[in-house]
Amino acid sequence: MPPTLLRADADAIARAADGLRRGQLVAFPTETVYGLGADAGNAEAVARIYAAKGRPAHNPLIVHLASVAQIGTYAELPEAAARLAARFWPGPLTLVLPLRSDAPLAPAVTAGLPTVAIRIPSHPVARALLEAFGGPVAAPSANPSGRLSPTRGAHVAEALGPHVAVVLDGGPSDTGLESTILDATREPPVLLRPGTLYTALVALLGPLQTGGSAERPTAPGQLLKHYAPHTPVRLNATTCAPDEAWLGFGSGPVPECVASFDLSPAGDLAEAAHHLFAALHELDAAGARCIAVAPIPEDAEGVAINDRLRRAAER
Ligand code: AMP
Ligand code: MG
Repeated sequence: MPPTLLRADADAIARAADGLRRGQLVAFPTETVYGLGADAGNAEAVARIYAAKGRPAHNPLIVHLASVAQIGTYAELPEAAARLAARFWPGPLTLVLPLRSDAPLAPAVTAGLPTVAIRIPSHPVARALLEAFGGPVAAPSANPSGRLSPTRGAHVAEALGPHVAVVLDGGPSDTGLESTILDATREPPVLLRPGTLYTALVALLGPLQTGGSAERPTAPGQLLKHYAPHTPVRLNATTCAPDEAWLGFGSGPVPECVASFDLSPAGDLAEAAHHLFAALHELDAAGARCIAVAPIPEDAEGVAINDRLRRAAER
């Protein structure tokens, strides 16, 4: 059965919360990208996430909660992490925390690790869904493993079709890049995945150590090839061949090629982050031999944009 794409009003949110209670998969908008949610306490429901995405079992999931008050049931919140929580939650930050041994979570959520990744999202639809459900929702990005993240309800309906009971459509994602992940079990915390909070975190904590590796990833976003369109990607391009598609940054459209998308005509990195995945979805569908990508400054949101683009370009 195809999923039901529902405008995210109160009735649809109640229906989605009911789906979660019944062990179904529900896709919902967050401020980062769309999430593929399941009841994190229900082992069968969590297994459905891994099956739907084709996600390797060793890649743990982020647990989404409605409020900081719920955290104590699942994880310890060391003082330094509590300060980050107070500053950035609700919002696009994921903290890896020590797992409580009696946490009522399906073991697959944490892939057997002694830690758990937690996020409190700020998107009003995500918050309403979490409040209506009342419990922990395991939710990776709602795309097949390794592929482009969804920033529209329609992306989810296309890519995961029959696996999802309900897609709550809340319009385009706001920040458009996956959350920044910090391992807060280490002091100072270690950056596992850059996101749009990168600059704010560096301002607060100083230069960040990065953790994990492509060989032994602690986060799937660290896999060398990830976030990939089907069409090959060519980085740091200054020209676009007639059979290529062009992903520009402040360059305006390039009419001589198959298709083109300017991430931000004004050269604004936050705007570019917001458009990145929708642009890649669009250009991937254009039938070009290759997507040629203009250089993006390695600064502010550009750090996270370039991280995603490098992995998209891996073959
Ligand atoms: P995604 O939901 O695909 O955007 O990715 C969720 C991210 O959280 C993944 O990169 C996970 O590996 C990461 N994550 C979840 N749990 C843990 C954990 N216990 N330790 C380290 N990373 C985690
Ligand atoms: Mg993902």
